[in-house]
Amino acid sequence: MTSAPGGAVPTFRGAVRPAELGPTLIHEHVFVGDPELDLNHPHPEWDPAEAVEGAVAALTRLHELGIRTVVDLTVLGLGRDVARIARVAERVPVHLVAATGYYTSNVLPPFFRTHGPGRLVGGPDPLVEYFVRDIEDGIAGTGIRAGMIKVVTDEEGITEDVARVLAAAAEAHLRTGVTVTTHSRPALRNGLQQLAFLRARGVPPERIVIGHSGDTEDLAYLRRLMDEGATAGMDRFGMEHVLPDDRRVATVLALLRLGYSDRMVLSHDAACFSRMTPPSWRAVHAPHWHYESISRRILPMLTAGGASEDDIRQMMTANPARLLAPATPVAGAETGVDRADAAIRRHHGGSS
Ligand SMILES: [Zn+2]
Repeated sequence: MTSAPGGAVPTFRGAVRPAELGPTLIHEHVFVGDPELDLNHPHPEWDPAEAVEGAVAALTRLHELGIRTVVDLTVLGLGRDVARIARVAERVPVHLVAATGYYTSNVLPPFFRTHGPGRLVGGPDPLVEYFVRDIEDGIAGTGIRAGMIKVVTDEEGITEDVARVLAAAAEAHLRTGVTVTTHSRPALRNGLQQLAFLRARGVPPERIVIGHSGDTEDLAYLRRLMDEGATAGMDRFGMEHVLPDDRRVATVLALLRLGYSDRMVLSHDAACFSRMTPPSWRAVHAPHWHYESISRRILPMLTAGGASEDDIRQMMTANPARLLAPATPVAGAETGVDRADAAIRRHHGGSS
């Protein structure tokens, strides 16, 4: 079974041909939360019904600005609730794409301690099963299939649990052909480590997006990622509390002049609601951090700085379409359990 019929891209409302995705924001969030916290200590700014209405309005405005597809990289660890997003998706004109993966920079929940090869309860690694099932069968019984695999490494480095997530993502890629995208910490240049880890497990660099690359102005680092074949996610426009947009734009322009238009994607990493940085905080500290910044502010800044229409089309439309179109799985003939075991053996063998 491949990830979508005929190399199509799975969206909340069914498969879409890559050529029909149009201008795409490839790294966004709709709702970021924590179901256990919400159950026990609800956030005063989180009203689910109101949030759905807000997301419908925001994504409808985005379509009016020319955006046609939004990838929601809210995975496990960030409070993914695909059924809620489906209620938004059925009312908005943009395509929404779901993701699988696990967001942790250090440890997994205790369940994963006891489940998996060589562990107390044993069985195959549930991470591999979850990622592949999300891609092939759909998420949580909704039939909505994941179109990207998201992983994280940050200040803690590739801890044992983070290595487990990365290895499972690589395995899921090999079995489905779906692109792997990351949360990286460019100040540590750790995209290179992510790339090396995933490549060592068989993921082609062309199927890897190193996310948050736009947080740095280190051109040598960014060029190295892209020269190795990865795509740099210039995906935090509006996060001016990390790096001002004029400097993010200057970095993209410098790389365009060097010929890297086919290796960059643009997005905001924004959200309609995030419990981590709630709306009241964003309103004060990050007023440009929302879905509309690229269309309204960033693309005009890029154009004024010398980016061509082709450059914009390449970064906003062609690159996302190429990355979201599933590649041919390379491990279709093997059983997932065997390969998952092999991945874990390789890890315990100390290769990284
Ligand atoms: Zn994100």
